[in-house]
Amino acid sequence: MRVVMKFGGTSVGSVEAVRRAAGIVGREARRRQVVVVVSAMNAPDLRTTDMLIEAARSAALGDLHVADGVAARLLDKHLEAASGLTSGAEGLALGEYLRSGFDRLGMLYHSIAVLGELTPRALDLISGLGEQCNARLFAAALQAAGLSAEAVDATELVVTNDHYGDASPLMEDTRAHSRERLLPLLDQGIVPVVTGFIGATQAGVPTTLGRGGSDYSCAILGAALDADEVWFWKEVDGVMTANPAVVPEARTLAALSYTEMAELAYYGANVLHPKTVHPVVQRRIPIRIMNTFNPSHPGTLITAEAVPGTAKAVTAIKDVSLITVGGPGMLGLTGIAARIFAAVARAGANILLISQASSEQNVCLAVPRREAKAAVRELRRELAGALTEHDVEHIDVLEPVVIVAVVGFGMRGLPGIAGTVFSTMGTERINVIAIAQGSTEYNISLVVAESDGDKATRAIHRAFRMGEAPR
Ligand code: ASP
Ligand code: MG
Repeated sequence: MRVVMKFGGTSVGSVEAVRRAAGIVGREARRRQVVVVVSAMNAPDLRTTDMLIEAARSAALGDLHVADGVAARLLDKHLEAASGLTSGAEGLALGEYLRSGFDRLGMLYHSIAVLGELTPRALDLISGLGEQCNARLFAAALQAAGLSAEAVDATELVVTNDHYGDASPLMEDTRAHSRERLLPLLDQGIVPVVTGFIGATQAGVPTTLGRGGSDYSCAILGAALDADEVWFWKEVDGVMTANPAVVPEARTLAALSYTEMAELAYYGANVLHPKTVHPVVQRRIPIRIMNTFNPSHPGTLITAEAVPGTAKAVTAIKDVSLITVGGPGMLGLTGIAARIFAAVARAGANILLISQASSEQNVCLAVPRREAKAAVRELRRELAGALTEHDVEHIDVLEPVVIVAVVGFGMRGLPGIAGTVFSTMGTERINVIAIAQGSTEYNISLVVAESDGDKATRAIHRAFRMGEAPR
């Protein structure tokens, strides 16, 4: 069995964390082939990637004081970690590597300051340094624990297009490079420790896959290597039925389908993003979410299979604005919806939910609150004519509101789910402002006032007994 496993920044954010993670890899590598993907170190006092990027921005503004300070601080922290994880010749070599990496970073910051400009290409070159250092640290920790391990730079493996800052993998090339470089290591019993987040173009220019991109790296390598499973080590036991801060009786879901995971991700649950895991979903490779700080917990297994159960999880997106465009003249007026959505798109606002009753007298859409102002401004401009002719009479904004989404594959074709949702809202005396359900029926979303959001979430969780393990 072959597993590609990724450790997020917090799971490798300190000497103890790296040691703990290396212990997990050591145990697993005895039983199967393991490829490790690591993020940059991330701790409250060591937000490596953020710091690298902020320093680059201040260098572009001519402030080398900040940039040099950050480079020195990051070097110190990484050297400290290196001496905590290794000793002897290994430690010396690692120290050398770190020093030359940060020397180079300092030179890059200086060039940026001279040019007074930070291109996306230069930023990609800089922002992956955290992963490069951490792959070395992690490999050293594995070696110190008696394992054979080798740090591998993903610029050798993941071939991408040249959309710097948000590159996409070219899967065929990536597959060829990854297999050629990593399969021989696995055959020799060596654990490859690969940098997350980064790749390179066909010409070899370093790129990044976007913030949080090491999940993506893990999925890309899982697919390229035909892994039997892909594991994500995080700081939680798995995907939960609800946010435990809001619903104390929320529990970890043992199993979930890809579709349900995608619905939950869209609705703000802190799970894997659908785009991120697309490479493994496409190949139907099972995904596991596990807790580095509680490794004996089985976590959540996510597969293509439908998992029994009806409404399984409830999630909420806060800080939302509901925009309503309405007027009697909208009835039968073709093209008005297209104009509304085009205007919102021009404003760069992301539409979270859409609803129009068949009376056609109004269209309402929910957007993140910070994007509402621009959306309304653009709508007023687009619909100025319609407003003067009274086809459209009002463009209203209601905020803050919350979108509460009830998710479950088994909700499909089952009468009574919506009934339970809405009668629960009735019993709790919560006013439902808008409703949407896609025809896939995996998700019912309701918009409620911000002050009702937590109460609605708890009540739905209770009504569907989400806190009780299915029998
Ligand atoms: N270190 C990168 C970031 O912070 C990638 C990751 O952690 O997934 O965005
Ligand atoms: Mg991350």
